[in-house]
Amino acid sequence: MTVQSSSVATEEWPSGHFIDGAWRKPRSGSLMETYDPGKAEPHAQFAAGTSDDVADAVASARRAEETVWGKSLPAERGRILMRAAELIRQNVERLARAEVLDSGKTLEEARGDVRGSARTFEYYAGAADKQEGKAYPLGPDYTSYSIAEPVGVTAHIVPWNYPLSTACRSIAPALAAGCTAIVKPAEQTPLTALLLAEILVRAGLPHGVCNVVTGTGISAGAPLVSHPDVRHVTFTGSTVTGINVMKAAAQNIASVTLELGGKSPNIVLADADIDLAVGNVIGAIFENAGQICSAGSRLVIERSIHAEFIERLVARVRQLKIGHGLTEGVNFGAINSKEHLNKIASYVEGAKARGVEVVTGGNETVDPVTGKGWFFEPTIFDAVNWSDPIVQEEIFGPVLAVQVVDSIEEAVAAANCTNYALVAGLFTKDLSKAHRIARDVDAGQVFVNEYFAGGVETPFGGNRQSGIGREKGLIALASYCRTKSVTIRI
Ligand code: NAD
Repeated sequence: MTVQSSSVATEEWPSGHFIDGAWRKPRSGSLMETYDPGKAEPHAQFAAGTSDDVADAVASARRAEETVWGKSLPAERGRILMRAAELIRQNVERLARAEVLDSGKTLEEARGDVRGSARTFEYYAGAADKQEGKAYPLGPDYTSYSIAEPVGVTAHIVPWNYPLSTACRSIAPALAAGCTAIVKPAEQTPLTALLLAEILVRAGLPHGVCNVVTGTGISAGAPLVSHPDVRHVTFTGSTVTGINVMKAAAQNIASVTLELGGKSPNIVLADADIDLAVGNVIGAIFENAGQICSAGSRLVIERSIHAEFIERLVARVRQLKIGHGLTEGVNFGAINSKEHLNKIASYVEGAKARGVEVVTGGNETVDPVTGKGWFFEPTIFDAVNWSDPIVQEEIFGPVLAVQVVDSIEEAVAAANCTNYALVAGLFTKDLSKAHRIARDVDAGQVFVNEYFAGGVETPFGGNRQSGIGREKGLIALASYCRTKSVTIRI
């Protein structure tokens, strides 16, 4: 990403911040470029935010919270969020195109993300007026109850792999709870957050309730998460940055939700439906070219089916069609940036140098039609040692590490052998093994016989280095509410 280039036409996309219901030029006057990863070329410009822009956005959010949104009727909030869901659905193609061009994913994947984002707004629209309080039994001389109040101004820091859907999964519950928001999208993928903010205003959201400041993590993200008026920070990104965000929020005693990295196991037992498991293992690691926090990046497999499974897996992986996300029929898109491509390549080269067996892939590549873009072949390493970096560390790319085990106990030990604990997949026809492994595996969510099973209704989040707090479901509303108890002596 190069600062201050004027080579890119930007008419198609907004290039300012969205503050107080309107487009704003960056106070610094500087623009940045976002790249189309499928071509490795810049395709749009956006505002390079600084602490001045953040201060404007927080002031606007605070005003809106104190004067309008914090005092709004829950049912009215629900109606606005429901209209937002409808407008997102009406804009699937524009939002999906922006997402493909910024992130490198395929159009089909992007359309799915946009539809999921609409569903998220729909779900929290229904929840806005169902936040009930409690009463406490102090006996006949007292009336004691508690209510949920909105925490106030909230910050939402978003990564580049699922820019729209990640933003929506925290903005929607925050708005439903009566909070106002400032969103800082990743510098690689600023467009859909900006388009969303405009859609929300068209849906009837009062000015200042949802603001977007674009720019880098250091120039725009850091001042936002350390701003004293921000009462809750929802951060989705790497564990290293998450630690810094938590420290910054701690200075203001602001609460945090941290959705961080993963190295999730996909366990396939000998009794599994093999066809089903093969398809799901592929989706789990190669969807979004492996750039998924909850990717099934480790296959934990029982030895008795290992050889046959790998053979079938490799045959199907070789059918994946690599290319630019807007090309018809492509089902495996680009890597988001050159820097990230280099990181993936260095993990793969390191494993090769250590003598780990590559059964397919293992190389950087390009769009076969144009000869351009940042791509990495779907890659599988077999029978990897548990202590190897490609088992222990998050690569965040299309690289699957296979761990072979001899028992269910060993499968659980293999699943739990990293510092991450985000999700786990399991394929078995045996219900009792399913319950036992679901109990023993350390993960925020366990998927049995369908990887990524669940929807906005199902709580999502990680344990240990994968994060703290939960998103999705009604539980997410708790992050944006504080409890007030009132006790009256009669
Ligand atoms: P990243 O941590 O580099 O950046 C994420 C966001 O944080 C970006 O918007 C960035 O600008 C911002 N940022 C960077 N430094 C900051 C700072 N000091 N203060 C405030 N904001 C700052 O992560 P990334 O490389 O963009 O994303 C990939 C990572 O995100 C992977 O580790 C992946 O597992 C994780 N992720 C987790 C989930 C989840 O739900 N658990 C979902 C998607 C991605």
